[in-house]
Amino acid sequence: MSMFRAPKGTFDVLPPESGQWRTAHRVFEELAVQFGYGLALTPLFEDTDVFSRGVGGDTEVVEKQMYTFTDRGGRSVTLRPEATASVVRAAIQSGGVSTRLKASYWGPMFRYERPQKGRYRQFYQGGVEYLGSSSPEADVEVIEFGYRYLERMAVPDVEVRVNTIGDTADRERYSDVLRAYLHERYDHLSSDARKRVTTNPMRVLDSKVDADVVRDAPTPGQYLGKAAEDHFAAVRTGLESLAIPYTVDPKLVRGLDYYNRTVWEYVPLSYDAAQSSVGGGGRYDGLFELLGGKPTPAVGLAMGVDRILLASRPSGTSLELDAFVVVAEDTLRSEARQLVSDLRRSGIRVDMNDEPRSVKAQFKESDRRGAAHAVVVGDEWSHGDVTVKDLRTGEQRQIQVKEIETWLRA
Ligand code: AMP
Repeated sequence: MSMFRAPKGTFDVLPPESGQWRTAHRVFEELAVQFGYGLALTPLFEDTDVFSRGVGGDTEVVEKQMYTFTDRGGRSVTLRPEATASVVRAAIQSGGVSTRLKASYWGPMFRYERPQKGRYRQFYQGGVEYLGSSSPEADVEVIEFGYRYLERMAVPDVEVRVNTIGDTADRERYSDVLRAYLHERYDHLSSDARKRVTTNPMRVLDSKVDADVVRDAPTPGQYLGKAAEDHFAAVRTGLESLAIPYTVDPKLVRGLDYYNRTVWEYVPLSYDAAQSSVGGGGRYDGLFELLGGKPTPAVGLAMGVDRILLASRPSGTSLELDAFVVVAEDTLRSEARQLVSDLRRSGIRVDMNDEPRSVKAQFKESDRRGAAHAVVVGDEWSHGDVTVKDLRTGEQRQIQVKEIETWLRA
């Protein structure tokens, strides 16, 4: 029989490599709790219109990348390509946001892309949404969240690129100017860009193949109204007061349509893959209305976990276990089992082999399993002792059984 393989553009993560995924998730959850973001759980699939309306009909994601199918009930549903539209749909469905709602999510997203390093068809994002606030302080907080996450994930040399794309009226004025500029250079544009000149010219700024044509194009920042300009100034002041380094990138617009005012991306300078951003976000004050809700200002971000792990500095092998119990005398197996059970109940990460093996084989397994210590249960047990070996330093000593926990925690 032929062997099954994970579908194109997807991958499996198994132990021990999955240890770093677990860390990435844990660190994200800790940070979300510290910043006061509750948990949002939404379905992995939605009514297709949630995305075609929410993300924008003429975005690349909606035009080319959605996993859309008809279910057995004849409904058109789509695997989520991103989670913001889902969280907003859920907030509207639950009655809207009367004051503030801060929510975070974590999980797989699906986009039918051409797979390459750092670009997959199923990938993972952790994100936060700050719903109900129009204050620039909310933008600053969300930008800080992503920056701190990358700091804790040891991603080096991260540049925060920020820009503002203004309010709806500003965008309209700007789009007219940009459209005229693009029309003059129509013959040099890619076919995708040509399509967008009429419908959504700003997206052309985002197109890598058209970079030369738009090099000297006018930028949204030159057409800001007073409100958007003040907002952006306050965001920049806020970032400076938190000492978050950033650069203003006047051509930065983001792939999804729903943004207004502040947009940003995190780019690790030492990560040289073509897919350079490891996360990004923006303000999306119009999305609630697009999805049938009351006008509600909001800002959010999504961090790309796959790329963060590719870009983070390897911190040596991660320690998966505090201890591995090595049974040196087979007559002591049940005592060793009891010890493992006691240690687990006190919160120690510990394991042992479930079959008799030589001491050498068990030590090898301790290393392979990423254990910090080996705890040997042997002759010394009759005196109430075990031998503990620190597998990182090689240091070894005989201690009393009741001291193990203190020793392992030190
Ligand atoms: P977006 O939702 O397009 O704003 O993307 C936010 C982040 O998700 C990006 O900065 C990437 O790190 C990540 N990302 C987006 N698409 C993919 C993909 N196909 N594969 C892996 N990561 C992705």
